[in-house]
Amino acid sequence: MTFRNADLPGFTVGMVKCSRCNEIVRDSKEVVTPDGEVLCKNCANGSYYYKV
Ligand SMILES: [Zn+2]
Repeated sequence: MTFRNADLPGFTVGMVKCSRCNEIVRDSKEVVTPDGEVLCKNCANGSYYYKV
């Protein structure tokens, strides 16, 4: 009986995709909004928090 969670493909911790521009965000530098949206720094700084 072995557990091989580390071998699972796909989702990698610390590497996500920005839901605005689809850019890959590494090293946990993503910004998660209260709505659960994952954004890169540029998108987060660019508009979201200043949206009316
Ligand atoms: Zn982005």
